[in-house]
Amino acid sequence: MTPDDLAFDQRHIWHPYTSMSQPLPVYPVVAAAGCELQLADGRMLVDGMSSWWAAIHGYNHPRLNQAMKRQIDSMSHVMFGGITHPPAVELCRRLVEMTPASLECVFLADSGSVAVEVAMKMALQYWHAKGQPRQRFLTFRNGYHGDTFGAMSVCDPDNSMHSLWQGYLPEHLFAPAPQCGFGEEWNEMDIVPFARLMAAHREEIAAVILEPVVQGAGGMRFYHPEWLRRLRRMCDREGILLIADEIATGFGRTGKLFACDHAGISPDIMCLGKALTGGTMTLSATLATRHVAETISDGEAGCFMHGPTFMGNPLACAVASESLALLADGDWPQQVQAIEHQLREGLLPLTANENVADVRVLGAIGVVETRRPVDMAALQRFFVEQGVWIRPFGRLIYLMPPYIIGPAQLDKLIVAVAQAVKNPEFFR
Ligand code: PMP
Repeated sequence: MTPDDLAFDQRHIWHPYTSMSQPLPVYPVVAAAGCELQLADGRMLVDGMSSWWAAIHGYNHPRLNQAMKRQIDSMSHVMFGGITHPPAVELCRRLVEMTPASLECVFLADSGSVAVEVAMKMALQYWHAKGQPRQRFLTFRNGYHGDTFGAMSVCDPDNSMHSLWQGYLPEHLFAPAPQCGFGEEWNEMDIVPFARLMAAHREEIAAVILEPVVQGAGGMRFYHPEWLRRLRRMCDREGILLIADEIATGFGRTGKLFACDHAGISPDIMCLGKALTGGTMTLSATLATRHVAETISDGEAGCFMHGPTFMGNPLACAVASESLALLADGDWPQQVQAIEHQLREGLLPLTANENVADVRVLGAIGVVETRRPVDMAALQRFFVEQGVWIRPFGRLIYLMPPYIIGPAQLDKLIVAVAQAVKNPEFFR
């Protein structure tokens, strides 16, 4: 890439959550393999991000590449209305098999946010079909579910600036975020405000929607799995649906295949995305119980009112099946456990640092919460100079590497974080 390409990029291309008038620097990546990204100038960076939870098997994986090449030679895409194809059937068989038993009916869509829209729309249509329309969702503060409007309406109101969309965004119910952390003693009081809110609005709530155990982009917080058992029981008692957004946590990241497995619960609707294709292509799935699917289908509309153009894209389904086959090979639990162990050893001592407010580790996720917000551009430059790719935000420096990362590569990431938190210049 030439300097001209970079200048064009800065002038004409939006990047995620980045100003067009004062764009942050971007780093040109020209190739990626295993756990490394290659910059245009030849430098190699150890990847600590898995491209936002997605590239769990590492980049350029020969089996994932082969699955895509094979599929391209027969058919990249075909519409899903009135048509089915082997990659979709194989993928959905695998998903039905590996998710909790009651989740039987799979809706395939394009991205995580759309999977959340689909889940919310399923809940609305479910209640409509029952002849008792309900239109409110109950969730936690500090949540994140995507950037489309439905998803955004259940994201943390402050982080996602609900004030900007006042009058346009539906107003849902927000309980305080769980305070009782993963691994801490369960505190019965934690659930009281949530229970009160549910009781006060029991007739209006279509569904509870949450990220099980790990609140991701809304703060990288890990909460007690007892929360999920309690919420499952409360929802059952009231007949309210429970939607688990496993888009970030699904496929082993927290040490269990799904974060709901920490509590042994099964939601009525589950959203999957990100690592579904091993980080190669965009695809998501929303799974529902047969009861939810049949209630919707027997209602006034006669069907679920959704059908994206690229629904069930064969290329994405083929590579997703291969990614799930790689998981089925069974190496991931040991890999995630080894990462967890090394992250604990390397990151927990940073708690003693004066710039650090908290350090927490769960599965293949390591989080260093700093006291002050990071200077993103300066810290990013420092990490690249250290030969690592780590993308901090707000007061969070976090690692979630591909599961295949080796101890020396992971050490490089940990050392870079340890160096960074020592330097007050990286904090505003
Ligand atoms: N839900 C959760 C829990 C997520 O972490 C994300 C993405 N960060 C989404 C939904 C939205 O997914 P996408 O970016 O693919 O639309």
